[in-house]
Amino acid sequence: MTKFFKTDQSKKLFEAAQKHLVGGVNSPVRAFKGVGGTPIFFARGKGPYLIDVDGNRYLDLVGSWGPLILGHVDLSVLNFVRRVLRKGFTFGAPSALETELAILVKKAFPSIDKVRFVSSGTEAVLSALRLARAATKRKRIIKFDGCYHGHGDSLLVAAGSGAATLGLPDSPGVPEEFASLTLSLPYNDLQAVQAAFSKYNDIAAIIVEPVVGNMGLVPPKPGFLQGLRDLTSQNKALLIFDEVMTGFRVAFGGAQELYGVKPDLTTLGKIIGGGMPVGAYGGREDLMAQVAPEGPVYQAGTLSGNPVAMAAGIATLKQLSAPAFYKHLEDSAAFVEEGVRRAIRKAGVQAVFQRVGSMATLFFCGHPVENYTQAKDADRNKYASFFWAMAQRGVYIPPSQFEAWFFSAALTKEQLKRVVKAIGESLKESEKTAG
Ligand SMILES: *Cc1c(COP(=O)(O)O)cnc(C)c1O
Repeated sequence: MTKFFKTDQSKKLFEAAQKHLVGGVNSPVRAFKGVGGTPIFFARGKGPYLIDVDGNRYLDLVGSWGPLILGHVDLSVLNFVRRVLRKGFTFGAPSALETELAILVKKAFPSIDKVRFVSSGTEAVLSALRLARAATKRKRIIKFDGCYHGHGDSLLVAAGSGAATLGLPDSPGVPEEFASLTLSLPYNDLQAVQAAFSKYNDIAAIIVEPVVGNMGLVPPKPGFLQGLRDLTSQNKALLIFDEVMTGFRVAFGGAQELYGVKPDLTTLGKIIGGGMPVGAYGGREDLMAQVAPEGPVYQAGTLSGNPVAMAAGIATLKQLSAPAFYKHLEDSAAFVEEGVRRAIRKAGVQAVFQRVGSMATLFFCGHPVENYTQAKDADRNKYASFFWAMAQRGVYIPPSQFEAWFFSAALTKEQLKRVVKAIGESLKESEKTAG
């Protein structure tokens, strides 16, 4: 298979792109710094497949970093978006679709009384934090090392994801004064949270990825999320679940359904836009009532709630509410997990496959990864050779260890078997080349 793998066209396009786009890309992790080599340029997607400009076909385990839970160009989403597009791209005024999507979101998230749609996850998080600070009249926020909450100034402190891939712990251009209001603590460490509350009495909120996808997949330890709920309640701070990635992914009602912990505010994105740019935040009535125009906390957007994104979201969420949708996804991902565990033992490599629902990561290390320090200690050179070995076998996984794999509902059993086979072969090959 390897000898048919060509990258000439991608190389050409990347050279051209670098002359006109910063680093040749519009989002850093796409530049493949995490795995080396030339970024693959894609021509199209179809169901479970991505097809690149050189004609290579891959089973897609990235799904545009999460949104494409139904696979590429799902027909019912396409048809609904088409119908809506013909009537107008954007009105900058209300349309019924916004209410329709809000109802679907609320059905899945009982903690949400009111929703506000925005155009990205970054925007949703910034807005939720502004609201949390306004509602508590406090300044400081707690986040966790390796959690990524978009690229807002006060959140680019020990952020995972692209920042981790590039080895940038913090970004220049974020004034110390801003950064000093963000406490970044180790994930899964309740004692550190307790200590922070003892030391500071001006903590407005804790923001957390309830299942981390942005340092690779790291699940919360039993009791961690409930502990955050208890500590925030005791200290009159707010708990914000950033479910931009986990919402409608790990369960219909996100991580809060899966773990039974109710936050004050929730941020959403990715899946709720069905592949179009979108974000949302929502929560308790008394909190959301403080957002303009009901209240004084300002937040607005030219394209917020635009009909195309709303339509893609509605058509996507409707399919997710079908009975057994998540059971099917869980079965698919569990099948791969079993195969990977066997392959790891057989190849005798030091690796762990971590998974929650249809999100997963393969870390090259000898023990479970519970926090960012451990994620950084895993062997990323091995991940890089593993990535290319997988690509050559027609499976596209994230070009960085610090990103989660996503399984889509479009993958058939036959295709999942091919994924497992590719993983087995790639484990052996990466052991040889990187060892
Ligand atoms: C992707 C992501 C964001 C940022 O969303 P964008 O739409 O890329 O701005 C925020 N939080 C989490 C948990 C994410 O996974």
